[in-house]
Amino acid sequence: MKLQKQLVIFDHCIACSTCSSVSPTVFGLNTTGTSAMILSQPMNELVEKKSIEAMRSCPVHAIGVK
Ligand code: SF4
Repeated sequence: MKLQKQLVIFDHCIACSTCSSVSPTVFGLNTTGTSAMILSQPMNELVEKKSIEAMRSCPVHAIGVK
């Protein structure tokens, strides 16, 4: 799977930090710790692969592309 669009976090994120553990350059928690946020979009294939892994690891499927 190749990401050609922008990663987004949906409102139902439960702030479990799984995504930021898997791909810390792309995902982080917001300042209030209530939701994940995108720190930067993947800029190379390795980071993109980790981002897809993070997306698949999200327990509530709160990471998508648009
Ligand atoms: S893995 Fe999913 S639920 Fe957990 S912080 Fe990331 S987007 Fe939110």
